[in-house]
Order: sequence, then C-alpha cells, then structure tokens
Amino acid sequence: MATIFTKIVKGEIPSYKIFEDEHFYAFLDINPMAKGHTLVIPKKEVDYLFDIDDEMLKEMIVLSKKIAKAIEKAIECNRVGVMVVGLEVPHAHIHLIPIQSEGDMNLSNKRVELSKEEFGKIANDIVRYL
Ligand code: 5GP
Repeated sequence: MATIFTKIVKGEIPSYKIFEDEHFYAFLDINPMAKGHTLVIPKKEVDYLFDIDDEMLKEMIVLSKKIAKAIEKAIECNRVGVMVVGLEVPHAHIHLIPIQSEGDMNLSNKRVELSKEEFGKIANDIVRYL
C-alpha cells in the first residue's frame, strides 16, 4: 500500500509544495514544529533514510542544504535544524526546522497551528529563494 507521502507526491493528498524534481519532493509539514518546517523526501518509497542508496542520499542531502538556505532567507531564525525520526511515516524524510534555540528541536513541543493562507504564504516565501 502506498505511503501517505507517496499519495502527496501523486497529488492524491494536497500539500504545500516547496520543491519537486524527478527523484525528490519537498513540502511543508502539516503539523509544524515552527513556521517553515519542511520535509524532504525521495519519490521512491524507502522506509529508512540509511537504506537509500549512496548516490541518491548524497543528492538528498545537497537538496536539503539548498532548501535550508532558502528557509533561512524566508523565515526569521538562528539556523535550520535537521532531524530524522521516521517513526510516524514509513517513508524516509529529512525534517528541516527553523530554530532559535535547541529547545525548538524537541518533538514533544506544542506544534504551530497555521491557517491555509499562512501555509500558502510561507511556501511562497521559501520558494522565492530557491
Ligand atoms: P516522523 O515520521 O519523522 O516522526 O514524522 C512525520 C512527520 O510527517 C510529522 O512531523 C507529521 O506532522 C508529518 N505528516 C504526517 N502526515 C502528513 C501529511 O499528510 N501531510 C504533511 N504535510 N505532513 C504530514
């Protein structure tokens, strides 16, 4: 059965898209730890990040860097934190989270609630810098 992220890639579930090419897709986390929280995924379904083959993983990291730089420009933050968890969705993803301090990386923190308009604006702001 397709993962929820594959459904997002196929457009069966809507998302606020940040980037797409042949192999990768990036979109805003629907339950963000901070404004601009973005997920970078391979289109190919692989559960565990470290099962991705070397060349694809290199590309994914370099793409994450490019997107993180755009997030830094679009969202006020100290830097972009990087996290890999993958316990909720079995489709590898890199979390890019704009943070002010290390406490902002705590998964137990209350998530930010945003309107559709706010999500749309944040996505546009980030995409502008890609
Ligand atoms: P993890 O698997 O790394 O623990 O977390 C999965 C992340 O995916 C969570 O931060 C969650 O908010 C996000 N997520 C789960 N389902 C959806 C969805 O349907 N759309 C989007 N945009 N994000 C999702």
